[in-house]
Amino acid sequence: MAEKRCHYCGRLFVPDPRVGNRQKACSVACQKLRKKENNRLYRERNPGCWKNHYEDYVKPWRQKHPDYQRQWRQKRRVQPKPSPGEIQAEKLRRAIELTERTQVYLREIQAEIILKPSFRASSMFQAS
Ligand SMILES: [Zn+2]
Repeated sequence: MAEKRCHYCGRLFVPDPRVGNRQKACSVACQKLRKKENNRLYRERNPGCWKNHYEDYVKPWRQKHPDYQRQWRQKRRVQPKPSPGEIQAEKLRRAIELTERTQVYLREIQAEIILKPSFRASSMFQAS
């Protein structure tokens, strides 16, 4: 891939093969400049866009969902870290749960074998 000159810092760079000739910025920092410039151009071309966004969209939505922010804050509140004992207890609980599920599964298989007289488990082990 041929080298290109960055539109933002002027350095030469090798474009990412997935972007190829369309790439205009050499780095993340220059991509951020590019994004900023695009946003500025958008605002220039679309004056009044987002002008009444809060009044027209945010405010009515918030009035319809009065508990939203309180619940969002509650969810974000930092949970206390579990102690080593609590972590161990949780691991044990999961192991017990898994064992119980395995037991149920094994009993189901056992019941199938018992209920179906035509299925002879011993036939699998018989030498022909
Ligand atoms: Zn650059």
